[in-house]
Amino acid sequence: MDEEIQREALSAALEAIAERIEAEKGHLTDLDSAIGDADHGANMHRGFQAALEQADRDADPDAFVKGVGMALVSKVGGASGPLYGGSLAHASGELAEGITAESSVAFAEAYLEKVKDRGGASVGDKTMVDALTPAVHTYRRAIEVDGLDPLTALARATDAAERGVAFTIAIRASKGRASYLGWRSVGHPDPGATSTLYLLEEIRDVAAEYLDGDLDATAREPETEDDAGESEVDG
Ligand code: ADP
Ligand code: MG
Repeated sequence: MDEEIQREALSAALEAIAERIEAEKGHLTDLDSAIGDADHGANMHRGFQAALEQADRDADPDAFVKGVGMALVSKVGGASGPLYGGSLAHASGELAEGITAESSVAFAEAYLEKVKDRGGASVGDKTMVDALTPAVHTYRRAIEVDGLDPLTALARATDAAERGVAFTIAIRASKGRASYLGWRSVGHPDPGATSTLYLLEEIRDVAAEYLDGDLDATAREPETEDDAGESEVDG
């Protein structure tokens, strides 16, 4: 991806995310009202609107992402503000040489490590870490072990995050406000894990546009037995 396209893709991603958060604001707030204080939708919305206003679209990728992080730190508030914003600002340094498959893995890992470091949460505590960890691990494996292209890797990572959100439903919260509810937190998805999934879905879709790939085709699971049978008959 040349530098100009990287800038355009990052702007497009920010716009898509801000739009998605706006659309899901009510839903995120409902999720947070079940196990928190009913502000996650409003927090995220405020943060991404500020990021949209403040973003420097001519900046290099690392500076752009850092700017988004700083806007989130200053506007989101709550537990999620420093986790989202501070971790983005920190991980942005990995994009100093631009966005490549390699730097995107380093970025994802640095982001996850910072979220865990700041919040002290591990997998199973019912937080955003439960969506983020499988997403980042799956992304890294897809690129480094399986040698897949970033679009396929992103599609797999997003699917992994979705399963992570589902996992949060059945477990008790041990970090953040939801932990005050003890066992009553069981049965509800975690709001921060859910918003993390939304961000990933938007990044995946924007990447598909800018990398000019066919995401549906690349994300498809291996052929089912029926399909395989049919193509054998055909061939
Ligand atoms: P607050 O909890 O301060 O009201 P938000 O409602 O905006 O902040 O965000 C809540 C989300 O933040 C939770 O759903 C959870 O995913 C995430 N979160 C809270 N505490 C932690 C933590 N210690 N580590 C990781 N994520 C956390
Ligand atoms: Mg809240």
